[in-house]
Amino acid sequence: MSFQNTLAYAQERDHDDALRYYREHFHIPKHQGKDTVYLCGNSLGLQPKAARAAIEEEMEKWAELGVEGHFKGDDPWFTFHKTLAEPTAKLVGAKPSEVVVMNQLTVNLHLMLVSFYRPQGRRYKILTEAGAFPSDQYALETQVKFHGYTPEDAIIEVTPRAGEQTWRTEDILQTIRDNGDEIALVLMSGVHYYTGQVFDMAAITQAAHEVGAVCGFDLAHAAGNVVLRLHDWDVDFAVWCTYKYLNSGPGGTSGVFVHERHSNKPDLPRFAGWWGYDQEERFQMKKGFIPMAGADGWQLSNSQILPMAVHRASLQMFDEAGMEALRAKSEGLTGYLEFLINSLNQPKEDLEIITPSEPSARGCQLSLLVNRNGRQLFETLMANGFILDWREPNVIRVAPTPLYNTFEDVYRFGQFLEAHFRR
Ligand SMILES: *Cc1c(COP(=O)(O)O)cnc(C)c1O
Repeated sequence: MSFQNTLAYAQERDHDDALRYYREHFHIPKHQGKDTVYLCGNSLGLQPKAARAAIEEEMEKWAELGVEGHFKGDDPWFTFHKTLAEPTAKLVGAKPSEVVVMNQLTVNLHLMLVSFYRPQGRRYKILTEAGAFPSDQYALETQVKFHGYTPEDAIIEVTPRAGEQTWRTEDILQTIRDNGDEIALVLMSGVHYYTGQVFDMAAITQAAHEVGAVCGFDLAHAAGNVVLRLHDWDVDFAVWCTYKYLNSGPGGTSGVFVHERHSNKPDLPRFAGWWGYDQEERFQMKKGFIPMAGADGWQLSNSQILPMAVHRASLQMFDEAGMEALRAKSEGLTGYLEFLINSLNQPKEDLEIITPSEPSARGCQLSLLVNRNGRQLFETLMANGFILDWREPNVIRVAPTPLYNTFEDVYRFGQFLEAHFRR
């Protein structure tokens, strides 16, 4: 379909969009009394209107039942997290036993590294992408130090080629092969936070396994954004947060995937807590940790009911809409955004999209490199009701999401840029 740079066209696309009603299920922040153009779901997703009621329901339970809320009623806290397993599994392409919702992202990353980064002899290195999200860098840095190595030696970073902004899959695979007998773990993001590039998770996992390494992904920018098939891709483990594309609230809970081939390995080292203990005997408070089968066995603490209640309300929409349909709309929105930016014909020095143009190599986000007065453009956009985010040194991230953004949002953003660069 060929795009058009007119309001009528954008409104027609919205009119034909079967998912358009989901927007009404969200609170859209206002600017001078009108809806903002919110293009920041990559950082903090908007609040589903169902979230407040979901929390209130748990508050009611707590008020009425006190401690008995753990076991009483038809939706007790004791088994609350289990209600998240089915929709979470669908979201990331896993079996329900392979996923669990708990803690927060960086905590979960460390828990997974404890189990799956097992340096031994010559095989002690971690391969990752250069310029990974800082929290991931710090996690890897401190994990290798924890095992007695130095980050300079033990972390292999794959960089884009000189003059290029994004990674070539062939370079990642080749670096894995070149260092094959030294790599213990390949740990990369699924979608890179700065460039918006989607890594070829299936190919990377296969290459890692071929050299005898374990492979995990941080899906912070991938979950709820792109279609994932973690089980089929044979990924060993993955972690993600729920407050970005998954709209589950600031500091919300996090998801974990552990492939079922690791599900019954009591000897796998792990940092355990009572909530990962065999459910039938948990309250006998016996000595000697016996993990539950599957991802559940990595749980530490009893469930964070309030953030999980919000997450469940949000997951329901993903479950109902389906990732395939959401992704189809997302490709349309992002394609339209790209079309509008390209039709500005700005010289590269002023405005360059660094996100890959191939739809399968990106999620919904486009990263705009603005070398000249980028920060100023960002501030002007924000002051005019366009909510996006800025990443040092010079990138504006623009992320139209299929649940609540419209083609008209994208059109208005394009109009604003056009007026800005014409001045
Ligand atoms: C957002 C993000 C984080 C944030 O970590 P928290 O533990 O949720 O604060 C970490 N890693 C990546 C790749 C992210 O995109």
